[in-house]
Amino acid sequence: MVYLDNAATTPLLPAVHEAMAPYLEERFGNPSSIHRFGRQARAGVEAARRQVAQAIGAMPEEVVFTSGGTESIHLALVGAWLAAGERRHIVTSQAEHHAVLHTCRLLEQLGAEVTRVRPRPDGGVDADEVLGALRPDTGVVSLMRVNNETGAVTAVDAIARAVKARNPDVVVHSDMVQALSALPVELKQSAVDLASFSAHKVHGPKGVGALYVRRGSRWQPVLVGGNQERGRRAGTENAAGIVGFGAAVAHLAEDPEHGARVRRARDAFLEGLAGLAGVVWNSPASGVPTILNLAFSGVRADILLMRLDLEGVAASAGAACTAGSLEPSHVLMASGHPEDRVRSSVRFSFSALTSPEDAARAGRTVRRVVEVLRG
Ligand code: PLP
Repeated sequence: MVYLDNAATTPLLPAVHEAMAPYLEERFGNPSSIHRFGRQARAGVEAARRQVAQAIGAMPEEVVFTSGGTESIHLALVGAWLAAGERRHIVTSQAEHHAVLHTCRLLEQLGAEVTRVRPRPDGGVDADEVLGALRPDTGVVSLMRVNNETGAVTAVDAIARAVKARNPDVVVHSDMVQALSALPVELKQSAVDLASFSAHKVHGPKGVGALYVRRGSRWQPVLVGGNQERGRRAGTENAAGIVGFGAAVAHLAEDPEHGARVRRARDAFLEGLAGLAGVVWNSPASGVPTILNLAFSGVRADILLMRLDLEGVAASAGAACTAGSLEPSHVLMASGHPEDRVRSSVRFSFSALTSPEDAARAGRTVRRVVEVLRG
């Protein structure tokens, strides 16, 4: 089986598994306990905080561990909106992950006003759209750095600078869940205030994430209770998972060939596919190499995916959390593509663990199956 659904989740690296194991066994202590068991677990959590901070170009105290990308996004948006007081207006885009879109819907119930700007045809977002949506009462702007369905990159930092030039009080959040495996992330140099990350997209465990909170940001804690994470996210830390997240990003940082291997796999897939007519790219040529979204004219994506599964290729029609729903991809629809094109679109996503041989074989399989389905 060739796994080409790395945007949904990535396999755990053996080194990550190894790093986590002691925290599931003898180092089981509660990181808040002051005895030796607790101190061992605390040491693991703090080492991982330094690793994650290093990977995103932040200070360790700016990293808040969470239960994943969705929670980070939720804490970021709700916390920034509550801290914004009377400035109730939020600007985001129609191409965001549902974690952002549905949190905005929840905030609307609490009195927020939300403008969802249209993305470009590739799923990325232009600065003009965002600047045009700003209002005097805008409190929060949220834009993803890499779109999880098309791989389009949004110039979030440049947009954040332009937003702050208009109104320095606006808090800018970025969903960087798909960026960490694909692009350099350097938050120290950036104008972004809050950023969300997830371990399982970078060969770490599921159920662990991080929220970057720039020091001094206008943001307040949402998940309150105990004093964990310096009072910014209550609840006993998932020490094993956090250690795994740290090990995963450290591995990424020590692997300068990582990006090149992903690109080789993506290119090998395209070579395997070469010659197949009626293929339209939904991904931009300038997108990240991890994600390739293609429309196969005359073929239904759900049927193609089932046939591919039987033939040994795992891919998806878009975000995993919407898979199985009959709704066409909201990202591709918002990008202005006709519904029949959207319903014939498949996302193939690659990682540094995808071998070029497997990718080429998968490309040839896709070509063969599409030709069969077209009869
Ligand atoms: N944001 C993006 C862009 C994603 O791709 C995902 C993963 O599906 C999430 C947020 C949610 O992350 P998690 O699965 O860790 O909650």
